Amino acid sequence: MKKIAIAGAGFSGAVIARELAERGHRVDVFETRPHVAGNCHTERDRQTGVLVHVYGPHIFHTSDERVWAYIRRFDEFMPFVNRVKAHARGGVYSLPVNLMTINQLFGRQFSPQEARDFVTKLADQSITEPRSFEEQALRFVGREIYETFFRGYTRKQWGMEPAELPASILKRLPVRFNYDDNYYASKYQGIPRHGYSYIVERILDHPGVTLHMPARFNREMARDYGHVFYSGPIDAWFGHAEGRLGYRTLDFEVLREKGDYQGNPVINYCDESVPWTRIAEHKHFAPWEEQEQSVIYREHSRFCGPEDTPYYPIRLVNDKALLERYVAKAKAEPNVTFIGRLGTYRYLDMHITIGEALASADRFALAREKDEPMPAFCIDPLT
Ligand code: UDP
Repeated sequence: MKKIAIAGAGFSGAVIARELAERGHRVDVFETRPHVAGNCHTERDRQTGVLVHVYGPHIFHTSDERVWAYIRRFDEFMPFVNRVKAHARGGVYSLPVNLMTINQLFGRQFSPQEARDFVTKLADQSITEPRSFEEQALRFVGREIYETFFRGYTRKQWGMEPAELPASILKRLPVRFNYDDNYYASKYQGIPRHGYSYIVERILDHPGVTLHMPARFNREMARDYGHVFYSGPIDAWFGHAEGRLGYRTLDFEVLREKGDYQGNPVINYCDESVPWTRIAEHKHFAPWEEQEQSVIYREHSRFCGPEDTPYYPIRLVNDKALLERYVAKAKAEPNVTFIGRLGTYRYLDMHITIGEALASADRFALAREKDEPMPAFCIDPLT
């Protein structure tokens, strides 16, 4: 049986490697960076001892029983509920927009029903089918809430007008008419005691898996393997022959201080007059540890150049047209499956990535059992 190659040791690649190794395959994993876990990478800051989310905040949440059971095989998950605050127009508000936020912003004492009626009056009812981020916001919360919390933040985060962005980005955030300020609506939530890189190292720790790191996997190497799972950028696999897909990247201004800098893990800065989008204070992601010192990241977003680390796929109309061409090329490529955020050019949370990786490994086992070809994608990237 020929070996399997996996390009990338993020969650997608690691989970597939482990699943295939447990089914008796020999797997080579190639990672270009000097660490595993992709953008979920965590490491202890040498100067302070704080466990840092090196590529920005990652809070694990899921409602998927299989994913939750799977991930807890590799580390203990510590209780954590993401409660984000917003600096906006001279005040500090509760996020996601909830009854506290509405009462704070309008100086009222609304009950849930009163707040619902009030926001319904603010909302632009003339928009029946919101086609953009801006229309989605105006349709559901109206101009004042939109301009206070979403407009400036989104312009900084995406570098373009909310009227040009898809409504799907805003659909990530709930609006609640009660005092629930949990950022996520998932059934389970937590942060691994030893961090995400520890988890990925443990996932890869199997006699059937060999990790090559740092090592680049290229197209020519594919012929030595029975199948390739590729979690790098789909356009890079084809040498950017059709052009580059657009991403946002992040820069972090790192501060180290004594004590408690902001009293919360994440504070968003919604005003455009402030250059950063949010500030993360990493020790608050591990409240079970006692740290005197603090590491603070001020997060700045910008367009991702060829040498930068891609974070968020932009997926505007022109990107989608380009993606269509790469998807067609990928479907013509034998024995390669494109996986994960970069391989499928989608804005994916960790739990979705892990769920899809488990499903891809199942799909591979089925294809081998039935002696059928493994598809280029287990999920259509164009949907
Ligand atoms: N968003 C916003 N104001 C906020 C938080 C989020 O306008 O205070 C918008 C923004 O466009 C962002 C999107 O909602 O990109 C999704 O937010 P989320 O917090 O899920 O972003 P992530 O943590 O993935 O960067």
